[in-house]
Amino acid sequence: MASGWDARPPWRPGRLPLLLCLLLLVQLLRSPARAAHIKKAEATTTTTTSAGAEEDEGQFDRYYHEEELGSALREAAAAGPPGLARLFSIGSSVEGRPLWVLRLTAGLGPPPPDGDLGPDAAGPLLPGRPQVKLVGNMHGDETVSRQVLVYLARELAAGYRRGDPRLVRLLNTTDVYVLPSLNPDGFERAREGDCGLGDSGPPGASGRDNSRGRDLNRSFPDQFSTGEPPSLDDVPEVRALIEWIRRNKFVLSGNLHGGSVVASYPFDDSPEHKATGVYSKTSDDEVFRYLAKAYASNHPIMKTGAPHCPGDEEETFKDGITNGAHWYDVEGM
Ligand SMILES: [Zn+2]
Repeated sequence: MASGWDARPPWRPGRLPLLLCLLLLVQLLRSPARAAHIKKAEATTTTTTSAGAEEDEGQFDRYYHEEELGSALREAAAAGPPGLARLFSIGSSVEGRPLWVLRLTAGLGPPPPDGDLGPDAAGPLLPGRPQVKLVGNMHGDETVSRQVLVYLARELAAGYRRGDPRLVRLLNTTDVYVLPSLNPDGFERAREGDCGLGDSGPPGASGRDNSRGRDLNRSFPDQFSTGEPPSLDDVPEVRALIEWIRRNKFVLSGNLHGGSVVASYPFDDSPEHKATGVYSKTSDDEVFRYLAKAYASNHPIMKTGAPHCPGDEEETFKDGITNGAHWYDVEGM
């Protein structure tokens, strides 16, 4: 499911950070899993999910651009019964594109009558129901997750409606939030076939960064930084995400990238910021490792630990997982 290059040092393939719960994706959408280097084939192959819905035919053969993303999420919501989904935007990109989120869980009730699609349209938190979020396309040219998350949302909604026992149980007990594109401006700038190797060009030319040339995955305040927290003025996407996270109580999160094929878990940097090789443990390390392994072991390529990605063919990951900082240190993500 990885695509493109998540090039920080330019020679480095990207990570597909799994914070938690991407297990969901693997279990529900097995078919799209492929290696990084066959991104285009993946994006153009017509597939159906286990829903097998005939109406899905022809919807898997192209990317959703501009307003199509919002429409696709509305359709995904409509695939479920009333009260299962809420569409809202947590804010806007630099160029004013909405940062759409589809919330999926049972018992949401009707949407606001005034048609508000801002963050408040998400509706109230449901006591005792854990919140899980999945974020894609933070790097605008890492595009597969943007599509896959729409398919996931659609499958969750349709599966609930048709009474799939596992999905009914999931959405009766879990509050799922899908944010397919955190960098819609970069996505519209990206071009198929340009795998981010053009990063030597003008800032943002590849679509990786936002419209102000900022890498969203390097723009968060960092626990191991000593100076002033970074200004968020040039990264409204990051600001919106932070504010949204603060308003909620997410217990599991996954952030999907393109590039290498590995489940990477926190932390992504360490106090010494050594380039690589420092295992930067969280207090939940055992849980993270368990979940990362559960994801990787269900992925046909990731589980081999040898994705053979172009440009880094020899890179291997034991069990298909890695601690982020041990792989390479990245500040501000
Ligand atoms: Zn990335």
